[in-house]
Amino acid sequence: MAKLKENVEGILCAKCDKEMRLVSIPQYEFEEGLPLHHVQGYKCQTCAQLFFTEEQAKEMEMRTDELKEYAFGFQRKVTISGRSLVVGIPAELAEHIHLKPGTPVKILPISNDGFLVRKV
Ligand SMILES: [Zn+2]
Repeated sequence: MAKLKENVEGILCAKCDKEMRLVSIPQYEFEEGLPLHHVQGYKCQTCAQLFFTEEQAKEMEMRTDELKEYAFGFQRKVTISGRSLVVGIPAELAEHIHLKPGTPVKILPISNDGFLVRKV
C-alpha cells in the first residue's frame, strides 16, 4: 500500500507524484482468498498504483469480516462419538484452510462460549 500524501488537489501517487483518482475497483482481495467487489480506492492513472485511505481500508476490513461470517459461518449441531463431542467441519471451510483427514489441529478456548481450531 502506498504512503499517504495529501495536498489541496487530492492524493498524489507515492511512486510518480501524479494525482490519484477515486475509482471503483471491480475486485480486490483485502485478505487473500476473500475477494471483495466494487471497492472504493484511489488509483494512479500513470502507474496503476492503488491507494486506500484509512476509512476505505476500515470499510474493506468490515466487509471482509462480513464475508467470512456469511461465506464460512456455518451452523452445525454437536453430536457425540464415544466420550467426545463432535462438530462436523463443512467441506468448503476445510478446503479453504487446506484441512484434510489426519491434519493435526489444536483446540483453544476463546472466552466462555467458543473455541478456535487451528492447524498445528
Ligand atoms: Zn503512479
